[in-house]
Amino acid sequence: MPASETNLKRLIQNVPDFPRKGINFKDVSPLLRDATAFATAVSLMAQPVAAEEIDYIAGIEARGFILGSALANFLNLGFIPIRKPGKLPGETITQNYVLEYGESSLEIQREAVPKGSNVLIVDDILATGGTAKSAAKLVERIGSKVIGFVFLASLEFLNGRKEIANYKQHTLLTYD
Ligand code: AMP
Repeated sequence: MPASETNLKRLIQNVPDFPRKGINFKDVSPLLRDATAFATAVSLMAQPVAAEEIDYIAGIEARGFILGSALANFLNLGFIPIRKPGKLPGETITQNYVLEYGESSLEIQREAVPKGSNVLIVDDILATGGTAKSAAKLVERIGSKVIGFVFLASLEFLNGRKEIANYKQHTLLTYD
């Protein structure tokens, strides 16, 4: 692993038994508050998608907002939020899914982007893949195309990649 990636991993803190017993939570807060690490992470996340024709970046609440909007700004693209229920005004579409630690739903605004737009989806951690898969479904249900996914890190042992095997997926850091 390149030195920059090793340094980034050092800034992702393992928090055992959070938010529930048995979950080893990856806290990216130390990385985000380090200006150099944050900038490095965003530019490395941009590299594999720089040649793609992307119209918008969609970020998944909440940490996907931070990395997704930074990446959108880096690539000079607009950003759209995929949010927890009840947060978005206007007409929304809802998708239910199973999370590593519970069940949840996500929403998108029906008119978020013009139909046929190419959308790249961003989140911090790929775990079981349920969140990512539902985000893709939402983007498709509003008539857009999912160009792929970019994650800061993936928990490989949870096999999330299989859930989104039909899409291009890029992960900066991996945990085996
Ligand atoms: P999943 O649907 O299981 O792939 O879960 C991915 C979503 O839950 C992402 O939005 C992550 O931010 C969050 N998440 C799941 N597991 C973890 C974990 N171990 N550490 C930090 N975030 C996690």
